[in-house]
Amino acid sequence: MNLILIGPPGAGKGTQAKILEEIYGLKQLSTGDMLRAEIAAGTDLGKKAKAIMDAGNLVSDDIMVGMIESRIEQADCAKGVIFDGFPRTVEQAKALDAMLGKKGKPVKAVIEFVADEETLVERLKSRIAQTIAAGQEVRGDDNEETFRKRLGVYRAQTARILPYYEDKGLLKKVDGMMPIDFVSQEIKVMLK
Ligand code: AMP
Repeated sequence: MNLILIGPPGAGKGTQAKILEEIYGLKQLSTGDMLRAEIAAGTDLGKKAKAIMDAGNLVSDDIMVGMIESRIEQADCAKGVIFDGFPRTVEQAKALDAMLGKKGKPVKAVIEFVADEETLVERLKSRIAQTIAAGQEVRGDDNEETFRKRLGVYRAQTARILPYYEDKGLLKKVDGMMPIDFVSQEIKVMLK
């Protein structure tokens, strides 16, 4: 089973992806985490991506599609994937459909996390304060200005994917502002 989680930054996609991994034996692929791993490893791709990410913009479709295309061929993806943060543009969505179609394993559901932007900004601020209090490093794109930019990019580019999947009858919505357990329960019911 392949699932796609779509929602603005901080809406809880990553948290739910980890819960769904356990329940269904799927593999979470977070393209944000994959890019941060490239940055940490100091690769050319990581160097290129860092400036784009720190500005709150999207890395190019070619890079992202290539990254996912090779990753889903690995053995740990055989039972299915939870796409967390991919696709983020209609071009990426079309490329993913083609890839999964070729494998005969299409997307089962696309789950949209509906969230209130100002609440997300408040949550971000408390997350930053907690990270600093714990003596940990704050992500380069986790500051209010860049976060607001990321919210705008979500609205302008990523949200355009929603009608694409709605037309295919795959789109389901959850209230990302609800408690974690409640959201997981809703998703479980949707996938029955
Ligand atoms: P995330 O951790 O999913 O919020 O992603 C952090 C940043 O990585 C985003 O703001 C983008 O700059 C970049 N990124 C992650 N996934 C994608 C994608 N599918 N397409 C383009 N850029 C991406």
